[in-house]
Amino acid sequence: MKTAIVGGGAAGFFLAITLKELCPKMHVCILERQRRVLAKVEITGGGRCNCTNTFQSGLDLQHIYPRGHRLLKGWLRAFSHEDAIRWFESRGVPLVAQEDGCIFPEAQDSHAIINLFLRECHKLGVEIRTGTDALDASRVDLTQYDHVCICTGGLHGQVLHTLQQWGVRLTNPVPSLFTFHITDPALQQLMGTVVEDAVCSLPGTKFKAQGPLLITHWGMSGPAILKLSSRGARLLAENQYHATLAVNWVGGRTAEEVAAHLQETFSRQTARLIDNVRPYDLQNRLWDYLLDKVGLRGRRCGEAGRKQLNRLAELLTHDQYTIQGRWHHKEEFVTCGGVELSAIDRKTLRYTAPLNVPITNLYFAGEVLDVDGITGGYNLQAAWTTATLVARGICNS
Ligand SMILES: Cc1cc2nc3c(=O)[nH]c(=O)nc-3n(C[C@H](O)[C@H](O)[C@H](O)COP(=O)(O)OP(=O)(O)OC[C@H]3O[C@@H](n4cnc5c(N)ncnc54)[C@H](O)[C@@H]3O)c2cc1C
Repeated sequence: MKTAIVGGGAAGFFLAITLKELCPKMHVCILERQRRVLAKVEITGGGRCNCTNTFQSGLDLQHIYPRGHRLLKGWLRAFSHEDAIRWFESRGVPLVAQEDGCIFPEAQDSHAIINLFLRECHKLGVEIRTGTDALDASRVDLTQYDHVCICTGGLHGQVLHTLQQWGVRLTNPVPSLFTFHITDPALQQLMGTVVEDAVCSLPGTKFKAQGPLLITHWGMSGPAILKLSSRGARLLAENQYHATLAVNWVGGRTAEEVAAHLQETFSRQTARLIDNVRPYDLQNRLWDYLLDKVGLRGRRCGEAGRKQLNRLAELLTHDQYTIQGRWHHKEEFVTCGGVELSAIDRKTLRYTAPLNVPITNLYFAGEVLDVDGITGGYNLQAAWTTATLVARGICNS
């Protein structure tokens, strides 16, 4: 029996090793288009490879995986983050968890994972062919294989074109995990400002995200923005990345709560300059910027009337900006969209819908599926999990 794995990335290698361990007699071949395998894994997590997560953030799966969470619930029961941790550690790569739940190799180096994959493939006898565009029918005849696994990563370019020709059911791919371009010269002056607990949302939609927010020379970034870009990826693409962004600078508190707090704080120190009060520990520059917006900068606490206080509370809880474009996050960038999950067998990830090519056992794993997560090691976990299910599916077929 012969299995071709198209794509020598995270999912492809994990699948090859798992399959060979389960079915040692199977001939398993990884076909990689580039000269080097695992090029993306090398740069993950800024070169440290955030390979999974403790899943203890308190977020539910729906918010971790905006696409695919329903099926992932079952899939993660079959191969969880704990299974992934055991998998790496039992093969000689100890992992460590950060306070934020992100898990990395103890060596803090993606090469720990890459070397493990290469070592295991060598030991098990997995064939690796680089510089091979496996979707080019003039170079590779995939119909010669008993099982074909597509692990080509985020769907675009030639892979997208080929899968369309094969008749594979696809959800239109669009980017996820990007930062927002906002042209506001006064805001740009605040470059480098971090707000530890902001809530960002797209008004008029259900999309919302909470966490640290970073003001950049380009607009806004940070975990809250990246999560929001992931949740609203498709809607933002449909609107050509033009939308209104609402920012609650004070951890999601209501305007009423904030107005009452300001009233109480200001009334205790009427002679003090509002500029020096800084409630909620907001950074100086941001506080000055917000006070400027409501005309309270340079005024004393006792001079602020109820109307102005309410305007300030409204601004702190529902500030609005115009998103004018996107920029991908330098640390992580994934594709929203891919092979439709309704067209695959939910246990084995075997493609079940009709095809225009004579490949009988076609499987998909990794980012090529319509599954993607927020930052934090969740995308690689999805790659390990889906690869494992495919390997088990092939072995049991
Ligand atoms: C800069 C960056 C940092 C990231 N950091 C993290 C992180 O720390 N944690 C995390 O969880 N996720 C991270 N991600 C996301 C994560 O890397 C991907 O989700 C993951 O690599 C997907 O695995 P995959 O195997 O599906 O695809 P890939 O790892 O992209 O592998 C696909 C492979 O298929 C090959 N290929 C494509 N077409 C063909 C073809 N026709 N023939 C043969 N081969 C082909 C490609 O060359 C590639 O090697 C990051 C992404 C980026 C861009």
